[in-house]
Parts: sequence; C-alpha cells; structure tokens
Amino acid sequence: MLETARYLFPTLPQGVQRQRVPVLVVGGGLAGLSAALEAARFAEVLVLTKSALPASNSAWAQGGIAAALDPHDSPQAHIEDTLIAGAGLCDVAAVTVLAEEAPALMRELARLGVPFDREEEDAFALGLEGGHSRRRIVHVGDATGLAVTQALIAQVRANPRIRVWEGVQAVDLLGRPGEVNGLLALDSTGVWHHISAGATVLAAGGAGALYGLTSNQPGALGDGIALAYRAGAEIADMEFVQFHPTVYHTRAGQGFLITEAARGEGGVLRTVDGERFMPSYDRRAELARAIL
Ligand SMILES: Cc1cc2nc3c(=O)[nH]c(=O)nc-3n(C[C@H](O)[C@H](O)[C@H](O)COP(=O)(O)OP(=O)(O)OC[C@H]3O[C@@H](n4cnc5c(N)ncnc54)[C@H](O)[C@@H]3O)c2cc1C
Repeated sequence: MLETARYLFPTLPQGVQRQRVPVLVVGGGLAGLSAALEAARFAEVLVLTKSALPASNSAWAQGGIAAALDPHDSPQAHIEDTLIAGAGLCDVAAVTVLAEEAPALMRELARLGVPFDREEEDAFALGLEGGHSRRRIVHVGDATGLAVTQALIAQVRANPRIRVWEGVQAVDLLGRPGEVNGLLALDSTGVWHHISAGATVLAAGGAGALYGLTSNQPGALGDGIALAYRAGAEIADMEFVQFHPTVYHTRAGQGFLITEAARGEGGVLRTVDGERFMPSYDRRAELARAIL
C-alpha cells in the first residue's frame, strides 16, 4: 500500500459553504445518472459533476452495448464469448450478471426514450464487434453513448428529487477512518463546499486520459479512484485499461476513436507498410479481443 496523505486539505478552506443531503452522487456519466435515478426512488439526491453535462466518456461511447437479443442468441453464448475474450481473467459472477441482465436493460433503456436503431418495429438492429460470435450490439447510429446519456439526463432533469450541480469538483472524501460522511468540493467560481451526506456514491469514471494518446475525455483522470484510495478504500484491477486499437492520431497529438464497429463490418488493420497482421496473431483476426 502506498503511503498517501488522508486529505489534500487537512483543514477546511476559509469561507467554506455547508449543506447536507441524503444521497450524494459524484459523476454525471451513465453510472452516476443511473445511480441517481435509482436512489431517487427512496431519497433526495444531489449529483456533482466537474464537467458540464453531457460531457463524460459515456457521451463519447460510440459502437453500442452488447446484449443477447437475437432469437438465435442466448445469455449463455454471450457469457462464453466474454470468458474467451477475457483470456481467463474474467470474474465469472460479474460476466453472468452482465449477460443475463443486458437484454431486459436494453428494453428498459428503449422505454426510457433511447432511440435504438431497429430492423423492424419490435426488433433491434444488431451490430457485430470484436469478441462476439454473433450480432448483438444495440446502437444508435454511431453515437450510442450520447443518445443513452441524453435520455438519462432528461429523466434526471425531470425528477423533482434530483438536483444536478455542474462544474463542481469533489476534492476530499470526509469522515473518520473506515467511514465516509460527505465530501469537500470546489465549484467553478472558486467557492468551497462541505457537503454532508447520508450516503456517498462515487461514479467518477476511469483514468484513461492519464495516457499521452487517448480516446478518453480530458477529465478522465482517475479522481474518483484517488479520492477513494486516500479515504482508505481498497482498489482493485488497476492493471485493466482498455486501449482502442483504432485511434486516429491528429497532427496536434490528440486521439479520437475510429469506431470499433468498423472492424465488425469488415475493416482490417494494416501496418504503415500496408501489411495485414492480425491473422498471424489470432484466428479471429481483427475481431480478436485478447491475444490468446
Ligand atoms: C471513445 C470511447 C468509446 C467508447 N465506446 C464504448 C462502446 O461502444 N460501448 C461501451 O459499452 N463502452 C464504450 N466506451 C466505454 C464507456 O464509455 C465507459 O465504460 C462508460 O461510459 C463509463 O461510465 P462512467 O459513468 O463510469 O464514467 P464517465 O462517463 O467517464 O463519467 C464520469 C463522470 O464523473 C465526473 N467526475 C470525474 N471526476 C470528478 C470529480 N473529482 N468531481 C466531480 N465529478 C467528477 C465526470 O465529469 C463525469 O461526469 C467507450 C469509451 C470511450 C472513451
């Protein structure tokens, strides 16, 4: 365990504003918005996000979401494909929940207003992506994350029990060792806030933007992981970082994703010399998920 200071700000800054909320959610991506909607069934909720909605990796997700919705597909086949793609490193219980719950959750998202592409009125259009032996990717054109995020933002904004506070950065989780009872946050005007909460949910996303070339939003800096670690939480699986194999590198040094669905529809990867290389490494060629 690394030795770290418990607080970035061991004493509360001057002029700090105090408030108390029953449930506090840090993060306005799909995890935070979903947690807020669920918690609002029981209590008043405050959502903090350091960006302005809808900015988040969630809004940048492109290709879509895997769910065994085809009549010839099954959650069992989805589980098997995922375990193969995970090369023996998957948590089988988590994979099982994901594959078994995905079909009903996609129907629920459609009910909440996500305009998924359809083959027919009652049949989702299903794409193919790496690691999947069947077509099972539900999508909204090539901007699925934005469409799902917008639908959940509309639900959150219409919910009288949820307040969203944009441009506010969580800085320190507060509480005695082994306990969290709120946090210290800084708003975009430079005012500090001490927010006490009955329950605090961290949904602050990943750390992909720490890498020099990334497909992630610039704000994906692992703040939530660091906040939790300093407060004594055990963190796990930090070695798992998804690298998109098709990121376009602009002259200015930025990266943006060329959709993964491009390989599902027949796109191939070549070296700078034009040589196709993936068939030498995996029988699934460009649709490989892990090198086995
Ligand atoms: C280019 C791209 C394409 C992708 N395509 C797909 C895809 O097709 N299918 C798929 O399933 N997945 C895809 N993903 C992955 C997917 O987007 C993420 O796994 C998912 O969106 C993570 O959601 P999240 O809510 O956990 O985090 P995020 O969406 O990153 O949200 C994090 C939130 O926390 C806030 N936050 C962070 N730190 C603080 C702080 N200190 N204080 C306050 N707020 C804070 C941020 O402002 C943001 O609102 C893609 C990712 C990228 C980058």
